[in-house]
Amino acid sequence: MEKPIKYDYLVVGSGLFGATFAWFAHQAGKKCLVIEKRPHLGGNVFCEEVEGIHVHRYGPHIFHTDDEEVWRFVTQFVPFNRFTNSPLANYKGELYNLPFNMNTFRQMWGVTTPEEAMEKLDEQRAEIRERLSLEGVETPRNLEEQGLSLVGKDLFEKLIKEYSEKQWGRPCRDLPAFIVRRLPVRFTYDNNYFIDRFQGIPIGGYNGLIECLLADAECRCGVDFLQSEYRDWRRFARKLVYTGPLDAFFDHCFGALEWRTVRFETRVLDVPNYQGNAVVNYTSHDVSYTRVIEHKHFEKFGAAVYDNPKTVISEEFPVAYRKGMEPFYPVNDDRNNALYSKYKELAEAERDVVFGGRLAEYKYYDMAPVIKRVIDYWKENGTL
Ligand SMILES: Cc1cc2nc3c(=O)[nH]c(=O)nc-3n(C[C@H](O)[C@H](O)[C@H](O)COP(=O)(O)OP(=O)(O)OC[C@H]3O[C@@H](n4cnc5c(N)ncnc54)[C@H](O)[C@@H]3O)c2cc1C
Repeated sequence: MEKPIKYDYLVVGSGLFGATFAWFAHQAGKKCLVIEKRPHLGGNVFCEEVEGIHVHRYGPHIFHTDDEEVWRFVTQFVPFNRFTNSPLANYKGELYNLPFNMNTFRQMWGVTTPEEAMEKLDEQRAEIRERLSLEGVETPRNLEEQGLSLVGKDLFEKLIKEYSEKQWGRPCRDLPAFIVRRLPVRFTYDNNYFIDRFQGIPIGGYNGLIECLLADAECRCGVDFLQSEYRDWRRFARKLVYTGPLDAFFDHCFGALEWRTVRFETRVLDVPNYQGNAVVNYTSHDVSYTRVIEHKHFEKFGAAVYDNPKTVISEEFPVAYRKGMEPFYPVNDDRNNALYSKYKELAEAERDVVFGGRLAEYKYYDMAPVIKRVIDYWKENGTL
């Protein structure tokens, strides 16, 4: 006799998409099995405790949203602190505030009023505008032209050019303009990178949030869906939720999607406060990492930074993706987007499978929109 199907959903991946999905499924009275190939739950928001500090193992994760529904959703599980993302840039020892604002303009040119800053910016942009107009170019064709048109020569050369080249492994002239098209430029003294109404880090790190979301699901770590008996998922569940890479689900039948990835070198230092800020970008070629993250600043503020005599830093190195590495950022150029569309067509033909999250949708997705997508799914298909 055939065994009865035990689960309503088999969820592949325990990141924010899979974990939020499992939570909603439980509210709807559905039973979930969550399988995760890593040895821990939480996907990229997983935090590891080192010397009493919550280290963001897969890169710094700052929660921010303008969506009140998403904010109410996450804060019902864990309290969030008041962390505000205000990164700094270090160009050969010179420090600048980001995003580009009156502080940056003062540091770069010594100007102190918005009017002076606008005048200086106009002067700086004049050269590229003239050049593009002579060539009859209306829209900047690459990252170099876009960056110069947006902020002019000094800011582009010290804060965008070499940083982008390190990050993407190509000269700015060969990179698409859209990467910097929406860089914020402000004429106020405001170092807050995000303008969203809600921002912060869960107190105690992200693991508490994931534990709450997965509290009622059955979870198994160290299980790769593609290499396990669960590949034949219909034996176990009525529906599949797949949050892994889309091309892998279809055995790369059209070829592999390209990714960019980063590598972290994490160290404990015997100083209480190494750089005075959570994130410092290194914007010149003479340093091979792109950022240094000092994790304690995500959760400790003011004098409390000195309560712990040690600190943990991670240097972030961009790396060209090779098979077997962690896929981090999709390369959404024309070739890869076209390839993704072919896989998406196959995905749409799959009955009873939900494909979601940054890997399955091949999309740069912040945390809040991932949660929003799951909320919307349950509004459309469930009992919300
Ligand atoms: C370096 C970096 C920094 C970021 N910083 C921010 C930030 O500051 N703010 C912000 O809002 N967002 C940030 N993000 C985005 C954020 O990480 C994503 O929005 C979020 O992780 C998406 O959740 P997910 O569930 O889609 O993917 P993931 O968190 O990647 O979860 C997918 C899970 O599926 C598992 N999996 C994959 N394949 C299989 C398989 N075959 N079998 C079993 N399990 C499998 C993976 O191991 C993983 O655990 C950042 C992303 C990166 C890469």
